[in-house]
Amino acid sequence: MSTINYEFRNEVLKYNASLSYCYQCSTCSGGCPVALLTNGKYNPRKIIEEAILGLHDKLVEKQEPNSWLCSTCQKCVELCPQKVELTEIFTLIKNLCFESGKVPDAFIAQGRSVLENGVAIPYSKAILTRREKLGLPVIKTAQIDEIKTILKETEFDNHIPKEVE
Ligand code: SF4
Repeated sequence: MSTINYEFRNEVLKYNASLSYCYQCSTCSGGCPVALLTNGKYNPRKIIEEAILGLHDKLVEKQEPNSWLCSTCQKCVELCPQKVELTEIFTLIKNLCFESGKVPDAFIAQGRSVLENGVAIPYSKAILTRREKLGLPVIKTAQIDEIKTILKETEFDNHIPKEVE
C-alpha cells in the first residue's frame, strides 16, 4: 500500500505548479506514442496522478509507471487541455530517481558516452559510410575537449559511475 508523501508532493508543486491543474481527463495518455507501443504500461496520466497524490514510493522507488520511458516528444504537453507541463514534471522525477541511484543502465551508458565522445550515441562507421554514399553533408560535432571541460566544471562526471554493475 502506497503512502502519501506531502513533502514530495509539495516539492513537485514548487518545481512546477501546473501539476495542480490536472483534472485526470487522460488526453495525454490517449495521444502518447509510448503508451500506445507499450499497450498502456507507460501511462503519463498515471504519473501525474501519483505526483498529485505524493506517491514517492511508486514514482521513485518502484518506478510504476516508469518515467524513464518518456521520450520527451512533447505530444502530451501539446494535447493537454489544462496546459500541464508533463515532461518538465517527468524530468524532476527522473532527477530524483538519479539522486537515489535508481537509473537504468542504458542511461548511465549514454552519460558515459557523452563524457567520452561528446554525444549520447556515437555515429557508427556504417552510418557515416551510408551518409557519404547518400551524399549527405558531413556531420559537424562540437569540440570534445570543450564538452569535457563543461561536464567537469558542472561535476556531471562525478555522477556517472565508471562501470555499469
Ligand atoms: Fe491531466 Fe492534462 Fe493528462 Fe488531462 S491531458 S490527464 S489534464 S495532464
